[in-house]
Amino acid sequence: MKATAANRHTSLGHGLLVLGDLWNLLLVRGLLTAGPGRFLDLKQRLGISDPVLVRRLRDLADDGLVRAGERAEYTATEAALAAWPAFVALHAWDRRWAPGSPLRLRTPLVHDACGHRTDPVFGCGACGAIGLSARDTTAEVDPDVPFAATNPRRRYHRSASAGPAAGDADPAGPVASAAVLADRTSTALLAAAFLGHRRFGDFQTALHDTAPHTLTSRLALLTEQGILAKEPLRAGGRRHGYRLTPKGHDFFPTFACLIAWSGAWFTSDGRAGVRITHRACGAELVPRWTCNACNAPLTRAALSGSA
Ligand SMILES: [Zn+2]
Ligand SMILES: [Zn+2]
Repeated sequence: MKATAANRHTSLGHGLLVLGDLWNLLLVRGLLTAGPGRFLDLKQRLGISDPVLVRRLRDLADDGLVRAGERAEYTATEAALAAWPAFVALHAWDRRWAPGSPLRLRTPLVHDACGHRTDPVFGCGACGAIGLSARDTTAEVDPDVPFAATNPRRRYHRSASAGPAAGDADPAGPVASAAVLADRTSTALLAAAFLGHRRFGDFQTALHDTAPHTLTSRLALLTEQGILAKEPLRAGGRRHGYRLTPKGHDFFPTFACLIAWSGAWFTSDGRAGVRITHRACGAELVPRWTCNACNAPLTRAALSGSA
């Protein structure tokens, strides 16, 4: 992966920007699950307009995630294939929180090695522990690597990036993970919540290039979706903050996978900007998915029907 001046110091920000956009997320997911496709195939798969598809393909190609191959087919690159753990995480989240959503991935995951359908369990590859949640870890921001700084050229307008979020047809119904991560502000806010931010001012500092009214609307949206809860910072106090609900906490594997992926593909030194430590073993968390049917660790090559 080339490290351009624009992304060298902002790998997690860049990683969140790339996959914190509904169209990019659905495009890459489609290439991983349904395989390569020509422009018209992709357009039909997603119900996306020509100009939006042209722009997303160009940006994904710039990021080294999509390649135009023979017969004008678009293919996922190694860098895109390496994001499969994050897509498994999104799949797991949707099964739990948005089983009826039209945006969820419908294909079941099958572990090729054991032949069973699998509900992968998240764990630490450094020590082999499984069933990890955010509470089993600590996260630190690397002071030299601002996590939310992004390339302004890549700001997509929400109207364009929201795409088939209308596909989550019933506004009162469960929202798929892809729709939650539909724009980079929501994605970066969730990441900041995992880093322990609670107050509006702290979110503002973490997402320093985001307008206050955008922050306000995204915090309200995440609260409405049941991912954050607004509550007094101190019992009986008048000032409010936001904390992750259990539904919000369940995004932890997604972020751990995105952080590992960003560090591996968008930097030359492997530093994504956030370091997650598994408390029990003291090592940096290496995200790992384990098959709940046979207890063997999953590798992309051993998993079909998903990524
Ligand atoms: Zn560990
Ligand atoms: Zn298995």
